[in-house]
This record gives sequence, structure tokens and C-alpha cells, in this order.
Amino acid sequence: MTTIRTPTGDPSPVLGPNPQTVESLDGYLAAGGYRPCPDTGALLDRVAAADLRGRGGAGFPAATKLRSVRDRGGTPVVVANGEEGEPGSAKDRWLMRARPHLVLDGLALAAAITGADRGYVYLSDAVAAERIRQALAERDPGLPVSVLRTEHAYVAGEETAVVRRIDGGPALPTAKPPRPFERGVGGAPTLVANVETLARLALLSRYRDGAATTALVTLSGGPRHPLLTEVRYGTPLRTLAELHGVPQPRAVLMGGLFGGLLDPDRLELRLDQAELASAGSGLGCGAIRFLDADECPVAITADALELLAAESSRQCGVCVSGTRAMAETLSALATGVCGTEGTANLARWSRGLPGRGACGLLDAAARLAGSLLAHFPELVAAHLRRPCPTCAATPPDSGRRLHVPAPDIAPGAQRLTAIDRPHTTPGARGTARATLSPTSG
Ligand code: SF4
Repeated sequence: MTTIRTPTGDPSPVLGPNPQTVESLDGYLAAGGYRPCPDTGALLDRVAAADLRGRGGAGFPAATKLRSVRDRGGTPVVVANGEEGEPGSAKDRWLMRARPHLVLDGLALAAAITGADRGYVYLSDAVAAERIRQALAERDPGLPVSVLRTEHAYVAGEETAVVRRIDGGPALPTAKPPRPFERGVGGAPTLVANVETLARLALLSRYRDGAATTALVTLSGGPRHPLLTEVRYGTPLRTLAELHGVPQPRAVLMGGLFGGLLDPDRLELRLDQAELASAGSGLGCGAIRFLDADECPVAITADALELLAAESSRQCGVCVSGTRAMAETLSALATGVCGTEGTANLARWSRGLPGRGACGLLDAAARLAGSLLAHFPELVAAHLRRPCPTCAATPPDSGRRLHVPAPDIAPGAQRLTAIDRPHTTPGARGTARATLSPTSG
């Protein structure tokens, strides 16, 4: 079970005031949704000024991506990417289950900006797919939109895998270039945008401020259920650790598996792309796992590498051999049977393997191994002799403990009965605060 909690004091433009319920079309329209966009150039300028970043993992500037597709020539295709591959993340499934119209509004606006004549919603979650289909049946978004379900896999949401799957192939990454904006679905310039990015695009079309100043985050680890919430950029990791009830974590696993491990001395780092990058980490999709006192960073890293080795699409020889070798070495380290040659190999691989695979899986694996060595050298050295008491008691579990479930959303449609705004930062126009009541019939 994953808990959803709206933040106290902070704006929550995406999570909204009633995240446990499905937002109805009436509610979405009453809050200002699906407004026509008479000036797509001005909206693009607003996206750039707000510095909206992609929320799928890489954090690429959304305006640059939209502009690249628009200016490529031909008739583009737009894709709402809801395939949530990182094992610690639940935000995208929640968003599509609870606020399908917000996602579709963002997709329609992306089509208007780029000149696309068709769109896709790409995902694996069956509940979310049904909600999106219901929303499409309730209201025509103004362009043909297909819902395409794929098999869930770590690499299935990688943008070239998305294009390949939509074109009828397997959901596996391809070599770049070409990138989808150059040659995507059916050869057309294609925007593959994360669903949270599109939701924020829709909010930016209505509210000049606030829509890009927060991020959905999924917090896990410790004794509590995983928590989905929305926080401002700039929030220190320490604040999030306290919010999740692990005030003194032993380590922090960042971005799902994308951002590697941080040690507890880095808790003053803030949710800021540049700041996290300077520490060799990253926010990624916003999944953050706080390791409690009874979890060993070595065992968690071994779990993560085992998961990545199992999820490798086995297309690049360097990934097949490199990720598996790192997983086996870390498993040996966790069980206390790894020598110094093994840790020397880990150090060498963590430096030499990034950038050599066709997708980011190999990079994530190398960053995890490297961050363990960099931030926990004494723990690693101790593990050369024997497993620590924690690892001896709880051996690696092949990554199963790293997954979090999507939060439950009440399936019955809700009807908006009152609006009370504004809701966001001082000076911002904010999002509507809606009072919802169950539909009577
Ligand atoms: S890096 Fe690994 S997961 Fe990515 S495409 Fe190559 S083999 Fe597949």
C-alpha cells in the first residue's frame, strides 16, 4: 500500500486537494481545464520561462524538447509516456488513475504546440489504461489518441523503446541517433513526454506561476508505507526524511535506481537538479528511498544491481556482461566473500561503463556501484572480511523490496460542487481548490 498525502503549507498543483479520488470531467472543466490555447508560441515561451523540466528521469528542458519536435518539419506525433519503470516510483500510475483529464489536456496542448496530428498514451498499468479510455470517451481531446499498453519492464519507458513498441516492435531501446524528435513513430518527429510533464504543461497554460515549482515524489523505506506527495524544488532531503519518519537514514537511494546512493552527511542537499548533479546524484523520477538503521547500503545496492541485471534487455554486450558482473560482485560483497580484486573491479567498471550502453540502465548500474564505493568506503572494507550483522540476517532479495505499489484511488467518479481559489504560492494564481462530493447518480 502506498499512502498519498497533500503537503501542509506547500502548493500541490498536480496532487490537488483530493488525491484519493478520481477527478471527473465536470470537475476538471470547472477548474479551468481544456481551455483552448490561442497562442501556442506564447505558451511555449511560458514553459521556457518557468524552466519546466521533464519528470520522467532525465530532467531535460521541456520547452527545448517541444521546440525540437515543432521545428523538425513534417507532421509530428505526441506520446504521453506513463510507463513507470523505476521500481520505487508510483506517481505516474497515480496521475493517470486519478487525473486522466489533466494528462490528456497536456497531451492536446503538446500537439497544438508541435503541430502533431495524433497522439498516444503509452503505459502498462491496466487500471490507468481504463481510466484514460474512460476519459477519452467522456471528451474528445481534439486529436486522435490511442491507448497502447505494453509489458512492464525497467527499459520499456525509455523513449526509443516507446517508439519501437508503438511501431509494432518490442519495447526495447534502440541506438541513438536518431532520437525520437528526429525520427520517431512511423518516421515522424515524435515528442515522448512523461505524463507528469504533460500535466504541468496543462497547468502552465492556465496558471502563470507555480505549476513548475514542485515535483511529485514517492518516498519509501523505513517502517511506514511508501508515501506519494508533492514538494517544492529546493526542499532539503532532510525535510523529506523527517516527513517520511526516517529522520536519520543510513543512506538515501535517489531517483529510483537512477541517482545512486547518498550518505547521511548529504541530507542538506536540496531537490535541485544542479545541486544533486554536483553531488553525482539526481532526482530522476522523484522516487527516494531512505534506508533505515536495519538496512545495509551494501545489500540494497546488491539488490538494485540484481534487479538491473535481470531487467537488461541484453542487446548491448557491454551491458550484458558489465551489469551482471557488477551484480555478482556486489552480491559477493554483501555475503562477505568478495576480495579486494572485486572492489577494484567495481571501481573500474563504475568509471568506465557509463555511456557505453544504448540506454541509461548501464549508467544507473555503474552509478550505484560507484556511489557505494565513494560514500561508504569503511562499510565496503568491512564487508570484505565478513557480512555485517544486517546482511547476515537479511540477505539480498533480488530487488523485490525496492518496488512500491500504486496508491489506491476511489474508482467512483466525483463531482465538483464548489471552487475555492487560489491555492498556490503567494503571488501565484494557483490551482483551484475544489470541494468534491460523491456523484449522486
Ligand atoms: S544498455 Fe542494457 S538495457 Fe540498455 S539497451 Fe543496452 S542491453 Fe538493453
